[in-house]
Amino acid sequence: MSTKATRRWGPAWMASLLVVALLTGCGLPAAGQPATDPVAAGPLTGAAATPTGRPTATVEVRPSTPPVIPVSYPATGGNRWSVAPGENTPGRATTGQLMRYRVAVERDIRGLPAKDIATAITATLNDPRGWTAGGAWRLRRVGAGEPTDLTIYLATPGTRDTLCQDVPDAYTSCRNGARVVLNVARWVKGVPGYGANLGTYRQYMVNHEVGHKLGYGHERCPGRGRPAPVMQQQTLGLHGCTANAWPYPKGKTRYSGPVGAYDDGIPRREGAYSAA
Ligand SMILES: [Zn+2]
Repeated sequence: MSTKATRRWGPAWMASLLVVALLTGCGLPAAGQPATDPVAAGPLTGAAATPTGRPTATVEVRPSTPPVIPVSYPATGGNRWSVAPGENTPGRATTGQLMRYRVAVERDIRGLPAKDIATAITATLNDPRGWTAGGAWRLRRVGAGEPTDLTIYLATPGTRDTLCQDVPDAYTSCRNGARVVLNVARWVKGVPGYGANLGTYRQYMVNHEVGHKLGYGHERCPGRGRPAPVMQQQTLGLHGCTANAWPYPKGKTRYSGPVGAYDDGIPRREGAYSAA
């Protein structure tokens, strides 16, 4: 959320901004306020440094609030994390096995506050076309210090290799045990020739890796021109299918393809990035 307030805007507007901010918890930086949660708020995470995300009488909205921080990250971060708060309301699913997840963003990643990343991931996981649609799972985001079944990391390319413990490609995302590791390079850039917008690719990468955690393996394109199953490795090739982010595109029946994977090559390693 932009907070580019100026002194030309009157007190009433500012008051309404404050009310909206408190109601939505949209990550306004608490200028001059020290973070109270050392785990959830790193020193370099911008809006994620809001102390708890809960309404508080000490939040200030200052006209001099700095602009949005450009996205940047090193090739390999320090493997230290900002953990987003839990979601305020339970997910939409009411039946199925509860899977609690936390969202952690590597602290060296600038301009992508943990809270914003968590909001996007949770919107994907709570979508009526997502994994909860089949009734077998409930997914709930929890905060730091709470019991979890998995952690979803947004990691630099090099830290991705450390967490994944697979072929260290620094390009793909992965799932390793209770770790779902999203490569920030893919989150920021998507993949060439995907044929859908970046938001769709992000939804795909979340659903694909979480799908592994829920027990699903790779699938192949079921036919030219058809949507790719979410468990197809769409990052590496669509093989005649079209981009698709959802396991339950119509909300009722899981959309799948033949079990198996392709022998696609992996593009070269990702390095540091700066949008500035
Ligand atoms: Zn996979």
